[in-house]
Amino acid sequence: MKKNLYDVVIVGGGIMGCATAYYLLKGDRNLKVAVIERDPTYSRASTTLSLANVRVQFSLKENIQISQYTIQVLENFEDEMAIEGEKPCIAYRQQGNLFLADLYGRGVAKKAFELQKDLGCSVAWWSPSEIKEKYPLYETSGIEAGTFGFKDGHLDPHAFLMAYRAKAKFLGADLVTGEAAEIGSVKGRVTDVRLSSGHSLGSEHIVNCAGAWAAEIARTAGINLPVKPVKRQVFAVDTKVKPDSPLPLTVLPSGLYFRTETGNLLLVGKSLEDDPVGFDFSWDERRFTESLWPELAGFVPAFDTLKLIRGWAGLYAVNTLDSNAILGEWPGLKGFFLANGFSGHGLQQAPAVGRYISELITGKSPALDLSIFSPKRILEEKPLSEAEIV
Ligand SMILES: Cc1cc2nc3c(=O)[nH]c(=O)nc-3n(C[C@H](O)[C@H](O)[C@H](O)COP(=O)(O)OP(=O)(O)OC[C@H]3O[C@@H](n4cnc5c(N)ncnc54)[C@H](O)[C@@H]3O)c2cc1C
Repeated sequence: MKKNLYDVVIVGGGIMGCATAYYLLKGDRNLKVAVIERDPTYSRASTTLSLANVRVQFSLKENIQISQYTIQVLENFEDEMAIEGEKPCIAYRQQGNLFLADLYGRGVAKKAFELQKDLGCSVAWWSPSEIKEKYPLYETSGIEAGTFGFKDGHLDPHAFLMAYRAKAKFLGADLVTGEAAEIGSVKGRVTDVRLSSGHSLGSEHIVNCAGAWAAEIARTAGINLPVKPVKRQVFAVDTKVKPDSPLPLTVLPSGLYFRTETGNLLLVGKSLEDDPVGFDFSWDERRFTESLWPELAGFVPAFDTLKLIRGWAGLYAVNTLDSNAILGEWPGLKGFFLANGFSGHGLQQAPAVGRYISELITGKSPALDLSIFSPKRILEEKPLSEAEIV
């Protein structure tokens, strides 16, 4: 078996893998870093199938701080990712996020809002009449309040990924097309990643960035990771009545969300209890017509007439313990680092996660302490509490 030697081998070249490679090489261009990706078209990667929303509206301090860092990075991202003067274009639009609360959720929303304010986020607490004034199409009966994140927004996930990927390559990363089949280890320490081609990439630092496939990779190292692939669907609709200005990502107390999309369309989605577990990428029109549309039209009566244009399905890598990221070295296997379980909010966490994992590997003290997300809590079954999972 042919062996290459790397300082770090990353399994999975989605946003986590490419961001991690970038921050490693930004810190030290002499590092030898490989990123293994089996599908460079990214047709099934969660990254490219994402809604690509960024928000500070979380309830856990570290999740808020992660997003604050992301927003800071995004404001200068195209310059930072420029290669020999050529800048990417990620279409980052800060159109805001509006999270709505009913009587039941008001207390939790208020507490999260106060924490966001304390941390210096640009957020506002709106009454139902203020919401109605700004968005006259909304039917606010049953709504107690809304929080609005002024800097929240969305971007083009494919361009975001390509920017990190290209810059990591420019800085010297080896982008390897292949399938990681097994993590090799000896005496509780990783040794290499074995590819299904028969090749092996040797390293003492391996990072699992395999997204919804993370548990499969971990299993080859004897680790039982509580990360499941769960199908989530998004629908693009053309409403007969058009709002006067773009609608921000609006999240109802039930979890139904929608926002204006380029072309005057509306994107709509909702995580449902019975969303199937597995690697299924088919989308189902009835999901929209039977479950989502009635609810959407209940909140925006003007949207009772619309045309379903298209839809798609992607996978959330759901951390079944607590729906939060799992970050850091696995306690039982030296050199095996995880960046997994993002449960639907990983795209916006990539800059902070990539930087953090690179700091852990290179022994730097983290600029943002994310040790709360340590894999140790998985073994100890100590879940974190985050109220704003969508
Ligand atoms: C419908 C939908 C909407 C979303 N909306 C948002 C949002 O608004 N905001 C947000 O922040 N997040 C959102 N997310 C979540 C976000 O997209 C993910 O958390 C994030 O993209 C995860 O990135 P990743 O790199 O871990 O995974 P991925 O992008 O899935 O990348 C993993 C890569 O690993 C590769 N791989 C897997 N196994 C192997 C192997 N054995 N060998 C080689 N390669 C392998 C895969 O091919 C894949 O390319 C959404 C997700 C979905 C599905």
